[in-house]
Amino acid sequence: MARRALITGITGQDGAYLARYLLDLGYEVHGMVRRASTCPMERIDDLRDRLGLHQADLLDQLSMIRLLDRVQPDELYNLAAQSFVPTSFEQPLLTGEFTALGVTRLLEAVRQVNPKIRFYQASSSEMFGTVRAEPQDESTPFWPRSPYGVAKVYGHWITVNYRESYEIFACSGILFNHESPLRGKEFVTRKITDAVARIKLGLQTTLKLGNLDAQRDWGFAGDYVRAMWMMLNQDQPDDYVVATGIKHSVREFAQLAFEHAGLNYEDHVEIDPALLRPADVHTLRGDPSKAHRVLGWQPEVSFAGLVAMMVDADLRRVRNELR
Ligand code: NDP
Ligand code: GDP
Repeated sequence: MARRALITGITGQDGAYLARYLLDLGYEVHGMVRRASTCPMERIDDLRDRLGLHQADLLDQLSMIRLLDRVQPDELYNLAAQSFVPTSFEQPLLTGEFTALGVTRLLEAVRQVNPKIRFYQASSSEMFGTVRAEPQDESTPFWPRSPYGVAKVYGHWITVNYRESYEIFACSGILFNHESPLRGKEFVTRKITDAVARIKLGLQTTLKLGNLDAQRDWGFAGDYVRAMWMMLNQDQPDDYVVATGIKHSVREFAQLAFEHAGLNYEDHVEIDPALLRPADVHTLRGDPSKAHRVLGWQPEVSFAGLVAMMVDADLRRVRNELR
């Protein structure tokens, strides 16, 4: 019998990559979607007839209990969250409800419906915030710098706590930034590659950015969802940092992306102070040694490969839109 997986946040970047990966492994894949008046299925449109999609919401405890009861998954991947840092400064309470308490609601649903369900929590390098060590690994203390980061710290510890208290097979993946052509356009990498394509094709001339000196350890989302599956398929549940171990600045990302399209970023990028954050995370670099050693996980796409993939995809898409 095929193993059954349920993904919350299946309409997001990681949900789309994970759903594809699990279908290819032969899983029966289900997804939780929230009701909207417009259709948010863009990223999984081509998979829809192979997925079971069910309405529920992280705010609604009963809807999650009913969902688990109906699907009876072997593995549950909690990817749903309010995931954009600037929005978390504007809507800190809602961010806490979704990104922090949503995790407890889901874990309570697991306890009630079937404590044998294996649970993955999408934790984040944003938890490290003002970094206490370089590079950051599973034992580096957290110092989050945004309501999003604070909410993720709660989600991380409640996952650890339910593992220790109720013997739930619960894992927290501390994933560093991961990007792809499916990344939301408000995140800096996709904002840049979308603008590069539009500038190249004559649709815009400038790109406004905030903190160009911020550094991130950027990887490819397709590589990172493999690590999620690996965590749930070990003998013991545990927490893992997933990262490349290499960091670059926003400026370097922009420089490379513009160069890939034959442009100079200095001719187009403008600094907009309105895009600076009340508190920013200036640098992040992960140490993925444990994921390498225990899971056997290795990323396959390099930084330059990722930038090229994203610019090429946006150029193709914008060209098609112009036809
Ligand atoms: P996205 O923002 O692309 O996707 C978020 C998903 O959560 C969407 O499917 C969204 O649904 C869903 N969602 C939001 N609120 C609710 C709610 N109240 N009820 C049900 N569903 C909801 O995020 P990513 O795919 O990039 O990231 C996946 C997870 O990994 C997130 O938890 C994120 O915080 C975390 N993470 C991501 C990193 C990254 O670099 N990408 C790094 C570390 C952690 P809808 O389509 O309806 O909006
Ligand atoms: P985050 O690490 O989850 O906050 O991912 P983002 O892609 O949103 O931001 C990464 C870094 O890029 C942060 O330090 C931002 O301050 C910086 N940055 C600079 N300009 C921009 C911008 O215009 N948009 C976004 N989203 N981030 C920017």
